[in-house]
Amino acid sequence: MKDAHDMTGQIEREGTMSKISIRASAVTVARRGGRRFLPSRRPIPHNSGLPLSSEAVTGRPADAVTDPFRKDMPMTDAAARAEGVTKVYGWGDTRVTALDQVTVSFHRGEFTAVMGPSGSGKSTLMHCMAGLDEVTEGAVFIGDQNLSTLSDRRLTKLRRERVGFIFQTFNLVPTLTAKENITLPLDLAGRKENGEWFTRLVETLGIADRLSHRPKEMSGGQQQRVAAARALFSRPDLIFADEPTGNLDSTASAELLEFLQNAVKEHGQTIVMVTHDPVAASYSDRIVFLADGRVVDTMGDPTPARVLDRIKELEG
Ligand code: ADP
Ligand code: MG
Repeated sequence: MKDAHDMTGQIEREGTMSKISIRASAVTVARRGGRRFLPSRRPIPHNSGLPLSSEAVTGRPADAVTDPFRKDMPMTDAAARAEGVTKVYGWGDTRVTALDQVTVSFHRGEFTAVMGPSGSGKSTLMHCMAGLDEVTEGAVFIGDQNLSTLSDRRLTKLRRERVGFIFQTFNLVPTLTAKENITLPLDLAGRKENGEWFTRLVETLGIADRLSHRPKEMSGGQQQRVAAARALFSRPDLIFADEPTGNLDSTASAELLEFLQNAVKEHGQTIVMVTHDPVAASYSDRIVFLADGRVVDTMGDPTPARVLDRIKELEG
């Protein structure tokens, strides 16, 4: 079991492994930036003669952040949110600002699509939101939990219990079969598997006849569906999916998207899905558009035609 544990540790760290170079400095800055948003733990002075600040009264900073595209909903009710998140890779000539002051909220029981040109920061946003990568500045919350305040162990636990991630590059464990890959996170968490749910999942995703195959014995589309099944099997509150239909034909794609839509409608899960495809995006409740590491627009109740028009407008 130890071997499998190490491998899942590797899966969970994948997002950071390739980006490990500036990790140490990012941690320091992220912790400093993150603390600004924590409720004040300072005791409220009695009889100091001064009026209480709103921070002392509400536990929130006076300049509590709001989602600029979501003024109707309190950001603190979100299933996950980013507050002023900047992510910088590299330094000097190779310095890249992948996310630039992103403030965005993803609400409970909502299916959000994230769209934007290649290199606009979509994968970086997913990795930072899921706690797979450290932010350079700002704070990421899952529920009420500021991720930068957690130890690695508590962050791993929170991710394992509440977050499912479908990686753009699948990140399956090569030595395990499809079935073992799918059940690995639950096995590691010591949670009991639900056989009926497993059968429904693999049948709906069309991989029931591939369960004893190892990743290299499967097509890209099959591996992508195994990766989706792995993320969905524990029924996490929050699912991040990075182009989960990128390798699927239109039928398999529609099946996965309907499944995701159902997870939101019937089980109240929250899904954030990166996609390039206007048809895939039209399954969502809301689209967040990124460009150059910033949120530039949002769209409610999308249809493929409206999405295409908006992309054309944004590309100007
Ligand atoms: P998208 O998913 O929208 O295509 P990414 O989030 O992958 O965009 O990348 C955003 C920007 O950050 C790009 O300019 C990309 O080259 C850069 N980037 C992403 N990951 C790294 C990394 N590990 N090291 C250096 N630059 C990176
Ligand atoms: Mg990407």
